[in-house]
Amino acid sequence: MGIENIYSDILREHANSNHNKHHLGHPTQTQRGINPSCGDEIELELELEDGIIKDASFVGSGCAISQASASIMVDLIKGKSIEEAKELAKTFTGMIKNEMKEEDLEVLEDAIALKDISHMPARVKCAVLGWHTLEESIKENQE
Ligand SMILES: [Zn+2]
Repeated sequence: MGIENIYSDILREHANSNHNKHHLGHPTQTQRGINPSCGDEIELELELEDGIIKDASFVGSGCAISQASASIMVDLIKGKSIEEAKELAKTFTGMIKNEMKEEDLEVLEDAIALKDISHMPARVKCAVLGWHTLEESIKENQE
């Protein structure tokens, strides 16, 4: 199996799995994000406590890339500090813009599966929707 297949398996798995797709019992943040160019929308829920993302989930609808990317992100940010999550969002956005070095991408774990989106300009907004929504959500918390 080639690298491309492993990556698309990760995406397919996340697009089809609902393990992060539900409402939280006690969210402290709820943030809506939409990508009108594709019709994707998500609602990201975070439970923040002492600067840590104690729990996270999302609900939404849209293309497989937007939903898989949001699901992978939720896996990645759970248990992280807000600062770490911000760094991850920056790294992910940088990867999609093709501005990151290969060795800096390891922290993104499964989200590296979306690296090739950088060659598909029409899908970039789908891939970053979850991460932009996260940044908005964190920003509101810090204001
Ligand atoms: Zn989309």
